[in-house]
Amino acid sequence: MKTFRERLKEDTQALEGAGLLKRELVIGSAQGPVITLADGREMINLCANNYLGLANHPDILSAGHRALDKYGYGAASVRFICGTMSVHRELEQRLSSYLGMQDTILYSSCFDANGGLFETLLDEKDAIISDSLNHASIIDGVRLCKAKRLRYANNDMNELEHCLQQCADARVRLIATDGVFSMDGSIAKLRDVCDLAERFNALVMVDDSHATGFMGKRGRGSHEFCDVMQRVDILTGTLGKALGGASGGYISADQDIVAWLRQRSRPYLFSNSIPPMVAAGTLCALDILESSDDLCRQLHSNARYFRGQLQQLGFALLPGEHPIIPIMLGEAPLAVRLAELAQAAGVYVVAFSFPVVPHGKARIRTQMNAAHSLEQLDQVVKILSCAARQLGVII
Ligand SMILES: *Cc1c(COP(=O)(O)O)cnc(C)c1O
Repeated sequence: MKTFRERLKEDTQALEGAGLLKRELVIGSAQGPVITLADGREMINLCANNYLGLANHPDILSAGHRALDKYGYGAASVRFICGTMSVHRELEQRLSSYLGMQDTILYSSCFDANGGLFETLLDEKDAIISDSLNHASIIDGVRLCKAKRLRYANNDMNELEHCLQQCADARVRLIATDGVFSMDGSIAKLRDVCDLAERFNALVMVDDSHATGFMGKRGRGSHEFCDVMQRVDILTGTLGKALGGASGGYISADQDIVAWLRQRSRPYLFSNSIPPMVAAGTLCALDILESSDDLCRQLHSNARYFRGQLQQLGFALLPGEHPIIPIMLGEAPLAVRLAELAQAAGVYVVAFSFPVVPHGKARIRTQMNAAHSLEQLDQVVKILSCAARQLGVII
């Protein structure tokens, strides 16, 4: 009989043998278009969720410093005991008005927000209908909930309709979807989702982590992009991506929903308040975004440019208009090899393969950022095309 620890060792070694062991890159600088690794190497970074380049923005750093001086390092409490500071309230109100929702409740992360959402609002009399490509945190949140679970193929509206018919007798039906599917950079068909929800009297929940701050005319998110701003019932999102890149998450919805979450949502009741300097930094990020759409425009212009360059060279991309631009490579070893060559030449990209994406659909997922310069993007294109030619990916 193998011992527990022997088994873990073997499982880990098996991952390594299959080339699937995750290794962490150690960075010795701030997040930015270029990062310096702990060993001193510099790399152009195409992997961060730092879409608007705000993770090291001077105004946000100052706002964080001021909040440190005023509120100290941390709240040392959950919200309802003694962890609600004026910045928490201010950020909740500000997010509500930014997103066009009635009210907002903060969490330590969006993972927690999704974990504390479903079981607090629904039980075995209800049903949740979930897109098959939804984020792990939605999947886990749904698992915690006693509601009946139905799943439809990614963005497949016929299947969604079928699921809605199947749970017509449920007390409440809730459709749950990512606003943007992060492995593909594709956008949920929120208009069709909302139309179906209306027909079947269902609620709509959207996790907009990869859209808040930069998708839609004013960057409000995929609900704005799809023109359904007043038709989504529950929005969840993160403070750890475009909105400054620190950490924290939220649920925005109507007052009745948020009021109940404050009473009963377990990650909210039993986990520390987000650090006041992060709340203040996020408020500053929202100031920046509301005062000008320059960053948003720059991000999308970078994405269009980079996508166009790669397409011209003959790379296989997934179509789309999101700054996530996946380069499709098929088998995992090829994706890993291309990522290695790019990294050795100073471009940080990572290969994604099964189980994160389906078998045979391995890829390198690139992510644009408003702070990348055209020179940096040209440099990346040069390095990627050189490596891809070497491997026979393009000719
Ligand atoms: C990143 C992400 C999360 C997790 O956000 P955290 O705040 O880092 O926990 C949740 N949902 C989606 C769709 C995400 O992309």
